[in-house]
Amino acid sequence: MDKISRPEQYFLDKIRQGDQQAWSDFVGRYRGRLLRFARAKLPQSADAEDVVQEAFIGFVSSLERFRGDCDLETYLFSLIRRKIIDSYRRKESRRVCLIQDAYDSSVDDRSSDAFEQVKSPAQTASWYARADEQYDLQKTVLADAIGDLVDGFKRALRFRDLQIIELLFYCQIPNKRVAQTMSIDEKTVALVKHRGLKQIRQTVERQKVSLGPSSEDFEHLLTDIWEYRRFSCPKRSTIGGYLLKTLEEPWQRYVDFHLNVLGCRFCRANLEDLEHETTDQTQQLHARIMESTVGFLHRPL
Ligand SMILES: [Zn+2]
Repeated sequence: MDKISRPEQYFLDKIRQGDQQAWSDFVGRYRGRLLRFARAKLPQSADAEDVVQEAFIGFVSSLERFRGDCDLETYLFSLIRRKIIDSYRRKESRRVCLIQDAYDSSVDDRSSDAFEQVKSPAQTASWYARADEQYDLQKTVLADAIGDLVDGFKRALRFRDLQIIELLFYCQIPNKRVAQTMSIDEKTVALVKHRGLKQIRQTVERQKVSLGPSSEDFEHLLTDIWEYRRFSCPKRSTIGGYLLKTLEEPWQRYVDFHLNVLGCRFCRANLEDLEHETTDQTQQLHARIMESTVGFLHRPL
């Protein structure tokens, strides 16, 4: 996903000026997909509505600090993830994988939890979200390098390589299982991984930035940043095109993979929201969010 777009910036400026209609439109635009996302992780519908409300409060009360280094949807998803993690922590509940969960773990010969080795979500996004100037340049350079790699794959319609990279870096799935999922041999997976890492490192080095960490840390760092920036997630309009089957065939297959094999939770929330266009159902939630957030908006001068 891209940095904030010009129409989004316009929207944001209006909200920053305290425009209530713009804020209401903003809530209306995003609440459905956020609620879908929350409901997938919080079975009690009241809990899901609570975290959506909290995410909007978090958004409006931190408007000054938002630097526009990702698009608004991605930023909202990062806020709601944090709220969901908090609510799990409050309940001291089992750990939960927020990246994706449609991936079938039963094919694994170890047959244990597919995400046993994956670090807990409490740790994920910690690095990227850390407000530390020392890391700002590294984050920016690394994000650009990954963005270049992903865009290159998309432009060349090299979706197989993109899928391999997503499974490895976005989902942290081991080589062997990536090979099984993609029905290819492990050597190919290793090669695509090697080339991808090399390209990312070279791009970073060209900027004369040192990343420092060991290669294992480096891969965790890629996942952190990937979750935050969602480099490979199709746009909502592309997911709409997928639903209507109007995409070109390679894109149609790729979006299908991203939604149903990789099972990206963010994109599935969008898909479900688009499928159900929930205007009536969420009207009440809308009113509730407006009531609890409007006080945060600046009064126009
Ligand atoms: Zn996605």
